[in-house]
Amino acid sequence: FRPWTDASVEPQLKIENIVKTFDGFPAVDNVSLNIYRGEFFSLLGGSGCGKTTLLRMFAGFLTPDSGHLSIDGLDLIPLPPYERPVNMMFQSYALFPHMSVESNIAFGLRRDGTPKDEIAERVAKVLDLVQLSQFANRKPTQLSGGQRQRVALARSLVKRPNILLLDEPLSALDKKLREATQYELVNIQQQVGITFIMVTHDQEEAMTMSTRIAVMDKGKIVQVGTPAEIYEYPQNRFVATFIGSVNLFEGPLIENLSDHATIDCDEWGGKIQVGRAIGYGLGHVTTLGIRPEKIRIAKMHDPMALANRAVGHVKDVAYLGNSLVYHVVLESGKILKATAPNLGSTPDRQFVRGEPVHIGWAPNACVVVEP
Ligand code: ATP
Repeated sequence: FRPWTDASVEPQLKIENIVKTFDGFPAVDNVSLNIYRGEFFSLLGGSGCGKTTLLRMFAGFLTPDSGHLSIDGLDLIPLPPYERPVNMMFQSYALFPHMSVESNIAFGLRRDGTPKDEIAERVAKVLDLVQLSQFANRKPTQLSGGQRQRVALARSLVKRPNILLLDEPLSALDKKLREATQYELVNIQQQVGITFIMVTHDQEEAMTMSTRIAVMDKGKIVQVGTPAEIYEYPQNRFVATFIGSVNLFEGPLIENLSDHATIDCDEWGGKIQVGRAIGYGLGHVTTLGIRPEKIRIAKMHDPMALANRAVGHVKDVAYLGNSLVYHVVLESGKILKATAPNLGSTPDRQFVRGEPVHIGWAPNACVVVEP
């Protein structure tokens, strides 16, 4: 399922040059994006980056200052929220406390004058989908947070929107329930086949759930890609540091051949080999990013065959259960983060605070990031 790679597939939602300012401040700054039918798409970014503002414009709760929005060729901007083929599920769920689960879900259909029989059938179907059939007569206050979340989801799905918008749908749940619900939500999305567009500030959540992610910063989209593309090839320093953790090195390019390049880096203590050509000229100050799990750490008596290797000493060790995180200080004083899987009591893979170690990585383990 990669419709975005197929030029013959038309996007479902087209977002073109959307601008929204509040008192002269650009909350959404010239955003263009295509979203395809059946995607679970996430808008990811820190607080205030404009992701909710963008989502609210899709729903029709806000009007852009300029730009175009269309679904399957239908211009959305002149349409009020209730005439748009989208539905929004709110962070607060916005359930009616005095109504039963069933009536909460049926509310929109009743208001639209849908025939009674059809309402009953559609409500029963979504209740089954979110596994709440046995709670149909309860009030929202008699439900757990996770169940309330599923009622809100059922209520948004029962109207069969072409696109469902979700604003931080899991933020009210505790960590454990949140993780379980992430898979549940993706399963439901796949069963109904509706496009989901989710706003989140949680990078792990976006990585777990999405077909693609748009990373936003200061009102702009800084990168769009699959979770793996964004993690493995972050285009700039913001994305590299926002998604996961990264070690950064900087230095002038001193060699650039067809299959490898070299950077001279004082912080590393010499040359860094990169396993591919770099798209800059000699002398260009280049930033490299290396993920902590791609860095190898070894005992001083273990020879290390990696092209990029140095000597340092362990400053801190954090035990995370499934892995260990080492902070290693290089001679320059630069601190490197390296993670290693917890391999149990293998003495050669355990390092203690203060211990001198070899540290290194393969030339193809780093990526070039824009400053
Ligand atoms: P969060 O995760 O904190 O909700 P966000 O990325 O969703 O952040 P937005 O709510 O889209 O951010 O807000 C983007 C910017 O626009 C912020 O600086 C915010 O203060 C501003 N903003 C949003 N709504 C309004 C409004 N109605 N009036 C004035 N400024 C607003």
